[in-house]
Amino acid sequence: MSRPCPCTSKKPYDHCCGPFHAGKAAPETAELLMRSRFSAYALGKVDYLIATRPEAKRAEENREELAQYCKSVSCVGLKIVSKEKGGKADDTGVVTFHASLQANGRRSLHIETSTFARENGKWVYVDGLVKG
Ligand SMILES: [Zn+2]
Repeated sequence: MSRPCPCTSKKPYDHCCGPFHAGKAAPETAELLMRSRFSAYALGKVDYLIATRPEAKRAEENREELAQYCKSVSCVGLKIVSKEKGGKADDTGVVTFHASLQANGRRSLHIETSTFARENGKWVYVDGLVKG
């Protein structure tokens, strides 16, 4: 029995973002990395959130703050709005998404255009432009 993946793919977690979080597989596309980071927020997988940043930016990440943030919000839904590159043969990718979040009983929509790049063959989250 496997629960549905929090990235709202409708796939079981063990056949979606689970293997990425467990380090058994690496996302092949920028979109898959984006989805797996969303579900990592949903599940409080702070190590994964840090490991999927570029090496040079990992030191900026605050483990406590991330853990606190994960606890404070519920990740309700995820919609990929558009994507550029980010495929198996690409080294960069851009994904725009709408994430529905809930904190303190209030729903909010997080709109972000994220930039991804390959580092040592693996996709990492470089930065994001938040629009709402
Ligand atoms: Zn997933």
